[in-house]
Formats: sequence, structure tokens, C-alpha cells
Amino acid sequence: MKRSSKSEGKKQAKARKAKKPSAVKSFFTGRAGITAYVWLYFMIFTVFILVFMWLFQYAFLANYYRSAKIRDINKAANKIIDAYDTDRESRTNKTVAYDNSLCIVITDEAGNVETLENNLGSFSQLSRDVTENYSLEIFQLKNELDDADENYITKVYKNPDFEVKGIYYCAKIYTDDAPKQAYLFIESTIEPIDSTVSIIREQLIYITVILFEMAFIVTMFISMRVSRPIVNITKTAKRFGEGDYEVEFDGKGYKEVDELSEVLNDAKNEIRKVSDLRKELIANISHDLRTPLTMVKAYAEMIRDLSGDNPVKRAEHVQVIIDEADRLSNLVNNLLELSKLESGNMELNIKEFSVNDKLKDCMTRYQLLIEQNGYDIQCELDDDRKVKADPDKIDQVIYNFINNAINYTGDNKVIRLRQIDLDNAVRIEVSDNGKGISKELLPKVFDRYYRGERVKRDVVGTGLGLSICKEILKCHDFAFGVRSEEGKGSTFWFEIPL
Ligand code: ADP
Repeated sequence: MKRSSKSEGKKQAKARKAKKPSAVKSFFTGRAGITAYVWLYFMIFTVFILVFMWLFQYAFLANYYRSAKIRDINKAANKIIDAYDTDRESRTNKTVAYDNSLCIVITDEAGNVETLENNLGSFSQLSRDVTENYSLEIFQLKNELDDADENYITKVYKNPDFEVKGIYYCAKIYTDDAPKQAYLFIESTIEPIDSTVSIIREQLIYITVILFEMAFIVTMFISMRVSRPIVNITKTAKRFGEGDYEVEFDGKGYKEVDELSEVLNDAKNEIRKVSDLRKELIANISHDLRTPLTMVKAYAEMIRDLSGDNPVKRAEHVQVIIDEADRLSNLVNNLLELSKLESGNMELNIKEFSVNDKLKDCMTRYQLLIEQNGYDIQCELDDDRKVKADPDKIDQVIYNFINNAINYTGDNKVIRLRQIDLDNAVRIEVSDNGKGISKELLPKVFDRYYRGERVKRDVVGTGLGLSICKEILKCHDFAFGVRSEEGKGSTFWFEIPL
């Protein structure tokens, strides 16, 4: 038997192992650990940044540089055009050409050169065009501008002699003495940024490698740190699931995890309470069931062996059996009632009734007790009020309160049932001058199966009475409570809203 269970265990462990998916597969099936996920997301982010940097470097840098250059030329052109009519000595042109390293040519409509300012030296195609090529380039640009129907055009060219790229810019100038028109031509070289780019690229390779390695390590570290509290909580939860109620959930880290730990600790405490209560409940019930059963058996045996022929003794013993059977059925009934109430299966039969009548009814039930046992049960009524509730259930609550008062009042035997009319409710109180309840125990009296210190057996009770009252009053949504002072007595109350 032992061997088979051992081999079974091995088999299960094997099966578990076999079922465990690989880390990579886990990613795709969505079952990887939080560490892996956090790490993966960080790495994706790093790769994204690197790709973006490279993309920018390769695809956008040259274009970006070119459009920046064209923007600058445009600005320079605007300055020249603005000054065209006033600046007859071409001072502006000179300054602009010098500041921006440009070659500036201004021609009239027929193509005759008015101004030539070259700051590009021998690199300038435009100045060579004007001096050596009889303005071929200029005419071509002029035609293109006229065809384009725009205010200006730009054109990138490659200087065949120097392997240098440049930009031509051509715009019309509208002069004050219209309809005369002039043309502005600007040339700028696109400085070879290739060497700069290759330096940056080389650096970028280093940066990529370093960044990737660092990201790999740092994100691994971060992901472990992020996931550690959750991993810890999971471990603790596993131990808790195995029945170790002494565990303590410890978040230590982030607000959310701290909150989760707090919630789990609360839940654990509640579960522990329930578990303790269950154990206590079973112990109590079995104790309370066993005692009457023992009595029943003992007295039945006594009748069989001794008192069977003695009618007086027999009647006495049979009465004990009947009392114990009552006690048993009482306990079972209370348990059934409580479980019904707690499971929410109890339906309330709400009716309107008079509070005065209800309390008077209750008093009649205790008449015999008053007369025979010398209890002084006083009933103080206020102005009559009509209220709505389940009258039978309210009876049950009042009886329970009065029965408890009778049970725990001691020798004093004075019990007070009071009706107090409040503004929007009627309060019903049951007070006794018994031994009272200590401050520590007071919050527990309405708990299921709570009984004060080992209650003497002659005090009838199951420890369920007050928890049944609590459930009934909770079902009605009525306020209820208890005031008590040790040695002075207790007052149990509830309020029926009007
Ligand atoms: P029981 O069947 O033991 O009376 P209850 O649920 O009615 O069960 O009461 C729970 C416990 O509350 C009692 O065991 C007792 O210790 C305490 N208790 C209830 N009513 C009184 C009271 N009027 N005076 C003192 N203690 C009380």
C-alpha cells in the first residue's frame, strides 16, 4: 500500500514536470512569470529606442540637414529681397553672403547680372556659370521657376569636379518700379556631413552595445525587484493554502503590493477566525450533544435496571429523559434556524402591528414564571406605535433577550422590558441586574456559539440565541446592541424604524 502511494507520488511529480512549459513557450502562452514579463517589456522598450535612434540616423538625418539648410537660405533670401530697393550698394548681399557662406547672384529679367557676391570660392558653380558658361545654369533655373508658378524653387545638385553637393535657390524679386522684375539666385554647398555621420554612427554602435548590455542587466535586476514582493506573497499564500495560519503576508515595496498584503492579512485573519470558530463550534456541539445523550442513556438504563417497577421514580427518570430530549431538539432546531438565516434563505413575513400589543403578548407568556419562580418582570410601555416587521421573528428576538435576562440575572430576579419612542424609531430594551458582561467579552456576545465562561448546565442555552437575534435583526436592517457593566447588569436593545 505504502509502496503504491509512493510510486503514485513520483508519477504525479513526473507528470507535473512534464506539464511544465518551457520559458519561451510560456511567453507565448501567456504563462510566464512577472519577472520575465517586466524584463521583456523593458527590453522591448530599449530595442525600440535603439531602432528609433538608428532610423533617425539613417533615414532622417540627411533630409533633416537639407531642410534646415533650405530654411536658412530662405531666411537669407527674404533679407536680400527686403533690402533690394533700398540697398543699392549691395551691402546686405555682402553681409548675407559672408554670414551664411553663400554665392548670391541677382539678374534682371533678361538675365543680365546685376550683383554677384561669391563666398564659396572656387566651389561655386553659380559664379563659374555666370563668368564662364554664359549663365546657362541661371537661365535653366529661371525657366524652371517660371514653369513652377511658385515664388521660389530649390534644387539639389552635385558638383562633378569636387564631389560636393549644393543647393540652388531661385526667387523672383518684384521691384518698386514695376513692371520691372529681378531674379535672385543663391547657391549654398551641402557640407559633406558624411564624416560627421560616420563618427556618430561609430559612436552609435558603441552606445547600442553598451546600452543593450546595460539594459539587459539593469532590467533583469529591476524586474526581479519589482516581482520579488509578489513572488514572496505567492509563496506565503501557498503556505497559507496548505493550512499554515501563522503566516504573515509582507508586501514591503509598493503601495499596491502593500495594500494587497494588507487585504490578504485581513482575509487570513478572517479565515483563521472562521476556522477557529468552526473548531470551537464542533467541540461545543459535540459536547452539548454528548451530555444529554449520556443522560438519556443513563436514565433509560436506570429505568430498565432499577426504577422500572417504581412508578414514582420511573416518572421522575422519564421526565429527565424528556427534558434532555427537549434540550437536544432545541439545539438542533437552533442550529438549523441559524444556518437558514445565515444562508439568506429566510423569508420575512412583514406585517404591521402595534408595539404595545406585542409587548403585552410577550408578558403573558412569562406570567407563569413570574408567579411560580418569583421573577419580577416589569413592562414599561410608551405611546403606542404601529410598526412594520415580521412579528414572529420579533417575538423570537424579544423572547431570547428576556430568556437570557432570566438566565443571567442571578438572585436579583428583576427584569425590565421597555418601550421607548424615539423620533423616527421605537426602541425595545430588555434589562437585568445580573452579573453583566465584561468589556472584553461584550463585542463577542452576538457571535455564533459564543457562551460566557463555562455556563452552568442548569442555565438553559445553546450559545446560538443571540446570533439568531443578530441575523433576524440584520435581515430587517434594524439597529441593535448591548450595554453592560460587570456586576450591575446588561441591557439588550433593538430599534424598529417607523
Ligand atoms: P446562550 O444560549 O448561552 O444564552 P446566547 O447567544 O443567548 O447563548 O448568549 C451568548 C452569551 O452571552 C451567553 O452565554 C452569556 O455569556 C452572554 N449573555 C447573554 N445575555 C446575557 C445577559 N443578560 N447577562 C449576562 N450575559 C449574557
